[in-house]
Amino acid sequence: MKKLFSIESLTLLAILFGILAGLWLPEAMLSLKWLGDLFLMLLKMLIIPLVFASVFVAVVSLGSGEALKNLGIKTFGYYLLTTALAVTLGLLVVNFAEPATSHHLHAAQTIQPPKEQSFASLLLSFVPANIFHSLDEGRIVQILVFVILFAVAALYLEPAKRETLQLFFESVNDAMAKVAEWVIALTPLGVFSLIGYVVAKEGFQTIVDLKSYVAAVLTALFLHALFVLPAVAAFLGRFNPLEYFRKVREAVLIAFSTASSSATLPVSIDVASTKGGVKRESAGFVLPLGATVNMDGTALYEAIAVMFIANSYGVELGFSQQIVIFLTATFASVGAAGIPGAGLVMMTMILSAVGLPLEAIGLIAAVDRILDMFRTAVNVWGDLLAAKVMNRFV
Ligand code: ASP
Repeated sequence: MKKLFSIESLTLLAILFGILAGLWLPEAMLSLKWLGDLFLMLLKMLIIPLVFASVFVAVVSLGSGEALKNLGIKTFGYYLLTTALAVTLGLLVVNFAEPATSHHLHAAQTIQPPKEQSFASLLLSFVPANIFHSLDEGRIVQILVFVILFAVAALYLEPAKRETLQLFFESVNDAMAKVAEWVIALTPLGVFSLIGYVVAKEGFQTIVDLKSYVAAVLTALFLHALFVLPAVAAFLGRFNPLEYFRKVREAVLIAFSTASSSATLPVSIDVASTKGGVKRESAGFVLPLGATVNMDGTALYEAIAVMFIANSYGVELGFSQQIVIFLTATFASVGAAGIPGAGLVMMTMILSAVGLPLEAIGLIAAVDRILDMFRTAVNVWGDLLAAKVMNRFV
């Protein structure tokens, strides 16, 4: 009985009822949008204080700059490896399935490319010139850079001062975790509204129109989430991924419903540490980092989408062009923010790299939100597995 009314079971039911209500009562679901927005706002309210406190506590608990460097290198190495595997899988699936469409482009659906796209500008965008701006704008990577420096500096303070700071941030962390628990209790309602709204707004016809493309993206996402990621994580982390999934799936469901890795972050940190047996040093460091730089689902989707666009335009992209896609898709997934639709905007970078017109994005924009839900779930699942793998090394 208790299991039947657990948040997870209710969330699954909410997804199901959300889909049905979106199909049968679209008007009602459109007017219930505020409920999903409320849930999202409550989650977002927690991101900054929780990231700040949990990263600080994680770094100070690691105890030394050396330990942090070790964990940092391993985490980045792991993220790079899984992202590379994701893009490779995406390219394999798309070369095999060769999806294409003859549908006409909708000029109205063109998208503005991000302002600058060079490696240097990506690097500079990680540095917080004014931390209050970064906090105000929710720039997670910049906040991470600042907190890590702050926490490493705290390690050099005399014990009494360091302990004061540590106690303060541990208390902030615990209080935020409590608020996160309250917000998580609202998940079924929030998810019902979010899913119902998407279905009411998008409908299923768009999916049917682009079925070969949707099928290629979903196939690759499922292969990556069900086989590649668990195999790599089990091998490196020595744990049972299925058992772990059962404990942390709440975060994956929220990622699916919100299409935002950042909004899911408070929940990922909570479930990984309270249910998934991940130590705070690992959860507090690996998850916030992963929410913005590690996006396997996005990387894989970028590769498939660009190849699909090329096929639809009748442009042949050979091996060397696909290497360009491999590199830029990896780069784009690191640069994409953990918010809905970020992957679609980053795609302009890959399109220009291989010489395809930017307005080609109009071809796939209609199904982007639906695919965003799936790819975000994979992004967050990848982060959760990484936190468990890194657990072994802290
Ligand atoms: N929505 C994705 C995320 O938050 C990013 C993307 O658009 O691919 O992880």
